[in-house]
Amino acid sequence: MTMLQALRGTTDLLPEEVARWSAVEHAARRLARIYGYREVRTPVIEEAALFLRSVGETTDIVQKEMFRFTDRGEHEIVLRPEGTAAVVRAYLERNLHKTEGFAKLFYLGPMFRAERPQAGRFRQFHQYGVEAIGSTSPWVDVEAIALCVHILRECGVGDATVWLASMGCRKDQARSAEELRKRLEPHKSKLCKECQARLQKNVFRVLDCKNPDCHAIAWDMKAFFLCNDCTAHFQEVRRGLKETGIAFDDTKYFARGLDYYTRTVFEVRVKGLGAQDAVAAGGRYDQLVEELGGPPMGAFGFAAGIERVLMAAGTGATSAEPPARAGVYLAVAQPPLIGEAFRLVQRLRECGVPALMDYDGKSLKAQFREADKALARLVAVLGETELAQGSITVKDLGAGSQRTVPLDSFIEEISREEQGRCH
Ligand code: ATP
Ligand code: MG
Repeated sequence: MTMLQALRGTTDLLPEEVARWSAVEHAARRLARIYGYREVRTPVIEEAALFLRSVGETTDIVQKEMFRFTDRGEHEIVLRPEGTAAVVRAYLERNLHKTEGFAKLFYLGPMFRAERPQAGRFRQFHQYGVEAIGSTSPWVDVEAIALCVHILRECGVGDATVWLASMGCRKDQARSAEELRKRLEPHKSKLCKECQARLQKNVFRVLDCKNPDCHAIAWDMKAFFLCNDCTAHFQEVRRGLKETGIAFDDTKYFARGLDYYTRTVFEVRVKGLGAQDAVAAGGRYDQLVEELGGPPMGAFGFAAGIERVLMAAGTGATSAEPPARAGVYLAVAQPPLIGEAFRLVQRLRECGVPALMDYDGKSLKAQFREADKALARLVAVLGETELAQGSITVKDLGAGSQRTVPLDSFIEEISREEQGRCH
């Protein structure tokens, strides 16, 4: 029979890999809490309309990358391609704009995009991110960027650069779009079919075109205007970052490929990651809450791709120290004692002691091998002689020592020893 495989662009994580992932997830959760962001969880499926309205109908994400299906012929459903829109929907649906006003939220979970799988680009990938909803203060931008950089540093990502820009308010964007359209119009015939249509519908999307010609022409002709308010806001963000000691480069970056962004946008890029060098990205979206049916409210957010964070961290930094030996392997000398042994193992586990045993009648030698492989600290050997004498032999695999412990006090003695060793 042919073996089934995981879908292209999806991956299984085996225990060693999960350990590296957990280290990143733990760092992100811990630091988010330190910065005052509280975790929320939203569903993996959402109504398609949510992303059409927020990310934008003409973006690549909506046009080409969403996994979309009709649910029993009723609803247009998508597997969420990103987190911001869903968090804002939840914020409004659950009335946080009325009960909390300003809210700082953290999320972590799988996202789905029907992209061509390649290094650092998957169809199911994972993001952690934050959304600070209900403030236009430039300090919110500074804080979120600081958090983003802090988490990456904690995960061992070196050589990261923050690319920073301001996309201005909607009025600035309309003005810039008008100008870009005017500049591109004479070159229309050199653009691809898709970009010719983009010229009218959403000219900024020409900047995202994968066709190198369109890309080059558009980037040569890009125009960006910032009104006085947006200039001042951007100035404050840059000043805040400088004073906080967060390095950035505001000479390269320009626009993000999602429609909801306004004002500050940023991306963190890491050297040596090849084409997929962006590990995290985000920015301000001062119109989105209103566009999704809420009151006018400023907001800022970012998302980092866990797969790329791990690639950028390499093997060193996020792999925690080799785990210390812990717990007990209860070796059974004769198979009829399995029941007796299981009861002891169960009591150890209830006391919080990691405990293992064999159920298949393996030889004592094989059981010792398993104990060693499982990094057990102790092997307790239960045999008929021991049982008759009311005692059990305990070997310390780390120290190489051996002792005899009365069965009556075995559980208590071992749990006392193991306390503080395992969490
Ligand atoms: P890219 O330019 O690489 O396509 P993007 O602008 O589409 O990225 P965002 O929507 O801003 O990405 O998502 C934020 C982060 O999520 C990215 O910086 C990246 O780390 C990660 N990410 C996005 N798409 C994928 C994917 N298909 N596979 C793995 N990680 C991804
Ligand atoms: Mg993309």
